[in-house]
Amino acid sequence: MFCPKCGTNLSENDHFCPTCGEPAGVKPTAPDESDRTAMFSPEDAEKTHLLAALCYFNFIFIIIALLLEPDSKFLRYHINQSIVLTVFAFLCGIVAIVPFIGWVASAVGAIMTVVFTVMGIVRAVKCQARDLPIIGKYTIVSYD
Ligand SMILES: [Zn+2]
Repeated sequence: MFCPKCGTNLSENDHFCPTCGEPAGVKPTAPDESDRTAMFSPEDAEKTHLLAALCYFNFIFIIIALLLEPDSKFLRYHINQSIVLTVFAFLCGIVAIVPFIGWVASAVGAIMTVVFTVMGIVRAVKCQARDLPIIGKYTIVSYD
């Protein structure tokens, strides 16, 4: 953090600049940790975003995408999300063997899967890399 007036390097505990007395001002808002768009180059995202969106539709596109763009980190980010989503959908299917409560959980999970899939596709199309709610923080395929 730097003083907005004179540029002195401020420590985190400085409420005022030790050089010129300027208030250190409001702390910058915490960055949105679920938004990883800045991790990826815009060129990479621009080149691969449609392939990335397709990966949410069918596993076969993941294989095609990896063959076409094996070095794209943006693509791998979305491949990871789509695989995590597939695992989530699979687990939702498994809990359906438990009568009643499992059926309800499975139905809720199925709705979440559809919503998350749409979110993933929309974000890929927009060249964004934002983690899906709840499940998006898990990593199966590394992308950094
Ligand atoms: Zn200052």
